[in-house]
Amino acid sequence: MSDPNVLSHDPAPEPAVGIALDQTFPEIRDGVRALCAGFPGAYWREKDRERAYPGEFVAALTEAGYLAALIPEAFGGSGLPIAAAVAILEEIHRSGCNGAACHAQMYTMGTVLRHGSEAQKRRYLPAIAEGNLRLQAFAVTEPGAGSDTSRLQTTAVRDGTDYVVNGQKVWTSRAEHSDLMVLLARTTPREDNAARRDGLSVFLVDMREAVGNGLTIRPIRTMINHATTELFFDDLRIPASSLIGNEGAGFGYILDGMNAERILIAGESIGDARYFIDKATAYACERQVFGRPIGQNQGIQFPIARAYAQTEAADLMVRKAAAMFDAGRPCGAEANMAKLLGSEAAWAAGDTCMQTHGGFGFAEEYDIERKYRETRLYQIAPISTNLILAYLGQRVLGMPRSY
Ligand SMILES: Cc1cc2nc3c(=O)[nH]c(=O)nc-3n(C[C@H](O)[C@H](O)[C@H](O)COP(=O)(O)OP(=O)(O)OC[C@H]3O[C@@H](n4cnc5c(N)ncnc54)[C@H](O)[C@@H]3O)c2cc1C
Repeated sequence: MSDPNVLSHDPAPEPAVGIALDQTFPEIRDGVRALCAGFPGAYWREKDRERAYPGEFVAALTEAGYLAALIPEAFGGSGLPIAAAVAILEEIHRSGCNGAACHAQMYTMGTVLRHGSEAQKRRYLPAIAEGNLRLQAFAVTEPGAGSDTSRLQTTAVRDGTDYVVNGQKVWTSRAEHSDLMVLLARTTPREDNAARRDGLSVFLVDMREAVGNGLTIRPIRTMINHATTELFFDDLRIPASSLIGNEGAGFGYILDGMNAERILIAGESIGDARYFIDKATAYACERQVFGRPIGQNQGIQFPIARAYAQTEAADLMVRKAAAMFDAGRPCGAEANMAKLLGSEAAWAAGDTCMQTHGGFGFAEEYDIERKYRETRLYQIAPISTNLILAYLGQRVLGMPRSY
């Protein structure tokens, strides 16, 4: 009975949150794969070399309606569950493409949807769904605050019918390729609030009016092609109608959106992991050294098999988190674990893929080194691994707080 192929298994019990155990959304996956086939490695290599925005790819996704997957039908979107958006991003990444050029549009609109006024929803969501307005930018991180969001120093001070914004953001990705930006800024000094999460507010900034009128964008060249930037606010005036929800309650609104962000990015990581496993498996079967395929050697075969097992396990957590999110249940722990396990599975699969390819893994034309660089991001952004572990250790397991 040592061969797992001859083991019999009891039927699996029904999962508590109805997680689909077979491949989800096959038609959506087929459609995404067909679209991605038009954007082969050569396209991404050129963009990577030039650090250029993949505008054609984003336009194709927008036109096909994929970026409006989560916008309710009443506002012109498809009203699909987050599990479908996960499938879209996973297939993009499994195909060798990269959803980071536009994934924020899927989750940042949730801030408007959940906390915006009826007028804001009617004004923005249908235009985003149609592709006439881009909501790609999300400005939270600041150079002086780091992971401690409560230390944000960018201020928005009410002045008549406007707010006046001053301060600085860093790592605001896609700011140059967005019409709108979700901005988290301080509206009450930190020391004047009862709780450290109070006093921050969310604004929807119209970038078309802001740039050159108090907002300066400076691109940051990074190890990957990510269109990320730093922002400088110098007496930027935005209308008071830009405020989303209640003044001072912005931190909670942003946290609401973060579960969606983590689940979606975990889906991208699963796609990356599967890309690496597909590539490694194919190469292990085809590459002949010492007169036999390298995959015949267990030193090559077993790390790929392990990466596969790790990826399948991480995928189950992504599905659980997505199912809980879609059921409207609290899913902070599951969303964080999905991101943690997905990003680590992708990194392990990438490392294995590099090792399987030997020297050729370094050749740009194989695309693996580019994907390897790209997949590294998700252990740091949108939240770093340590912060997830601290959340699990302290908020879920109840151990002493370190911050
Ligand atoms: C390419 C890229 C794109 C990004 N895009 C966006 C974006 O669009 N919008 C946005 O707002 N932000 C964005 N970010 C920022 C990203 O979310 C942050 O980089 C990330 O949250 C980590 O924050 P930090 O870089 O300030 O690290 P820091 O907070 O300075 O932390 C540095 C290291 O110390 C560790 N650390 C800190 N405190 C503790 C602790 N108490 N216990 C244990 N370890 C700790 C962290 O885990 C990390 O490893 C992006 C970042 C990058 C690199």
